[in-house]
Amino acid sequence: MMMKRLLPDLFQLFFPSLCCLCHRRLSEGEELVCLHCLHALPYTHYFTLPETPLSRTLAGYSNIVSATAFLRYGEDSPARPLIHELKYYGNQELGRFLGRLAAHRLMSAGHPLCTAELIVPVPLHPRRQRERGYNQSECIAEGLSSILHIPVDTVSFVRTINTSSQTTQTAEQRQHNLRGAFYISRPEAIRLYRHILLVDDVSTTESTFATCVEAFSVFTDLHLSLFALAKTSLL
Ligand SMILES: [Zn+2]
Repeated sequence: MMMKRLLPDLFQLFFPSLCCLCHRRLSEGEELVCLHCLHALPYTHYFTLPETPLSRTLAGYSNIVSATAFLRYGEDSPARPLIHELKYYGNQELGRFLGRLAAHRLMSAGHPLCTAELIVPVPLHPRRQRERGYNQSECIAEGLSSILHIPVDTVSFVRTINTSSQTTQTAEQRQHNLRGAFYISRPEAIRLYRHILLVDDVSTTESTFATCVEAFSVFTDLHLSLFALAKTSLL
């Protein structure tokens, strides 16, 4: 009995959990990001808005129910080190944590995406996923799923073209390069749903979302909601 309690305490003493952002020791009840840093994160405050910059960019697609993002992403944004932790330093739990955090706020706002029946993370190309070991959007999707109680499907939608990160390209160039990059591999599974939530880590020009929405547009009765953990804009 004693050892059970003692071991984690000793572990904490020598390897204390630190905040991902300020690297200070986390207090009891804090998880991954300290309350101070959580409070200072650049939230978009989009969840209560009927329109967002994402939904305006994608206004041409009539099957979109809602399109939103949780954090603002940019050169000096504190969201940047968080996204880097999640994407390049293997901190998958951070993705789940931020997904859960966003889900609580989406629920309190009564956001339309909460009525989705299935969550589909934007897939990585299999080669990219092998190199990284995981898909960061899948981690965010799992976090959202655990609070919203919507299942996640990671097998029915796949990426067939490996595009580089195209930060210097215009929206038109990006969308042109992405055309045909995604493929619905199990249409029989997707056909069962009327409202699907697509989840991505960072949306810049909404080109990735647009290409995904086009791939899903073969299902005429299907509505889509879109969620990006962070939203940036090209300079
Ligand atoms: Zn902190």
